[in-house]
Amino acid sequence: MTDRRFIAAQELPATADVVIIGGGPAGTAAAWALERAAPGTRIVLLEQSSSLAAGASLASLENFRTCWPALCLARLMARSVQVFLNPADWLGEGVNLGVKQQGYLYVAFTADGAAAFRRDVAHLHNIGLTHVEYLDADTVAARYPWLSQRITAAKFDPLAGWLDSHALVYALANATRSTRIALNVADTRLSIEGGRVTGVTTAAGRIAAPAVILAAGAQSRQIGRAAGFDLPIVVRPRQSFTTPWRHPAFPEDAPCVISAAPFPHVRPEARAGAIFGWEYGGVPALETPTQPADAYKDPRFPSITLSLMARQFGHVPGDGFADPRYLRGVAHRAGYYVYRDNAFLSQADGTRQPYKSERAILDGWPEVDGLFLSIGHAGHGIMAAPAAGEILAAKVLRRALPDPAYADFGLDVPYVEHDAGGLGLH
Ligand SMILES: Cc1cc2nc3c(=O)[nH]c(=O)nc-3n(C[C@H](O)[C@H](O)[C@H](O)COP(=O)(O)OP(=O)(O)OC[C@H]3O[C@@H](n4cnc5c(N)ncnc54)[C@H](O)[C@@H]3O)c2cc1C
Repeated sequence: MTDRRFIAAQELPATADVVIIGGGPAGTAAAWALERAAPGTRIVLLEQSSSLAAGASLASLENFRTCWPALCLARLMARSVQVFLNPADWLGEGVNLGVKQQGYLYVAFTADGAAAFRRDVAHLHNIGLTHVEYLDADTVAARYPWLSQRITAAKFDPLAGWLDSHALVYALANATRSTRIALNVADTRLSIEGGRVTGVTTAAGRIAAPAVILAAGAQSRQIGRAAGFDLPIVVRPRQSFTTPWRHPAFPEDAPCVISAAPFPHVRPEARAGAIFGWEYGGVPALETPTQPADAYKDPRFPSITLSLMARQFGHVPGDGFADPRYLRGVAHRAGYYVYRDNAFLSQADGTRQPYKSERAILDGWPEVDGLFLSIGHAGHGIMAAPAAGEILAAKVLRRALPDPAYADFGLDVPYVEHDAGGLGLH
């Protein structure tokens, strides 16, 4: 039987209840959640590439974690992890997301780093994340004898892990029976009349719809600009690499290990490999991508990452991360992190101090009735996807948010405590 979920671009329907632009984690999760909240909603999802999940998730480490110090992010991830761990309940029988729940281990190499972890863990416990552990140096050495003896303390999130993001995106898409998904759709533009969205036009035709969700990742600002408005997001290229070889001392059941500033991190990948990432390179934030993210791949990234980690962990040449076998057969990738660009702290003198927020924008766009945004997912749009989709569904259907803490993903919420710092400050 043909799967009528996937239609050819030429088969686009003339009308829909909701059009979603972008078939990554954000767009497919919005479709999934909308259908669950209002079965039978006629949704059309438009993807410009020849497959779903063709954006930043291709370069991602596919990790998830629950230790978020901002309550809204903690709740978002807790809900999403519930979906990841129970795919049969939420995504359908037989769905396999390849989940490995091996934890996140943040390590410190100084007394100050250890003290910061103590404060972090106390705060996380205060907001209900009592499963997150502070580990002193002896406990780290006993639990992870293969790690560096230099470690002074660690913070451990036992509920964290990773999954197959491609499987997640396709599972979300496949769970949406009344969604029609069109791939290879070029030149999608918003149609706006009298301050409200009336649908989209594409190279393959027009779809009239009273609601449109913009979930096009790094391309979202361009789509807005083409329609005459400017979304508050910026993009930053970010690199990762996979190695087919992993040091024999680094076990297959190891957690994802996040090292000290500048926070290079690594986790086992498949049976014998590893995957590494961190924020590297001084490329300033861009309003819109001017070239594919791959153009920012610095060929030195894998060797610089390994020497940084070898230095931090105290590995001598030939040992641990300084073993040259890590560099054989590397698969090096890049993608864009997309950040909210309207977060600021208000100073006593009335000035605004911008900061790098970790909060996506999950809200309606006030300038255009019927237009909704799922953008700015930074480095965690995969782990956030299911809950982010549910927030979008509530907005589109004009229902109450599933959790009041989610109000902080509103467009006009400039500041939320503990919502900065990525992997680093918490
Ligand atoms: C190096 C790196 C590591 C990462 N690690 C993690 C991690 O460990 N865990 C985690 O949760 N997240 C991670 N991320 C972040 C994660 O990949 C993103 O947050 C997530 O992919 C964002 O989802 P999205 O759907 O908003 O955008 P994207 O994944 O970029 O998807 C956007 C989709 O929209 C499509 N599209 C774009 N323009 C149009 C258009 N005009 N018309 C139709 N379709 C369009 C694209 O082709 C794409 O399929 C990482 C990202 C990078 C780059």
